[in-house]
Amino acid sequence: MEAGEWASCPYEPAHRVPRARLQRHLVKCAARHPALAVCPYNATHRMPPPQLAAHAVACPARLALRPATPPGACAALTTPTPTLLRDFLPPGDPDRELWDD
Ligand SMILES: [Zn+2]
Ligand SMILES: [Zn+2]
Repeated sequence: MEAGEWASCPYEPAHRVPRARLQRHLVKCAARHPALAVCPYNATHRMPPPQLAAHAVACPARLALRPATPPGACAALTTPTPTLLRDFLPPGDPDRELWDD
């Protein structure tokens, strides 16, 4: 058998499951184990909740979905613009000092 056709059950690593049947296996195993967080990009990726954030960043399913997203693109769109108030203040206004750094 080829390694790529088998997956380890995230609930019980001793369970070796054919990849094609992993989804069905997870439904059964989930009922008998403590809840695991489910990856938003692939329902067969499950892990303890504290690991989900790190996984989501490196998830191969996510990388396959959006390979061309440049890092920082989202931050640029959502960064607030703190310069607006300063632009409307006269040059001698004492409050202006608060905004210059
Ligand atoms: Zn299992
Ligand atoms: Zn994932």
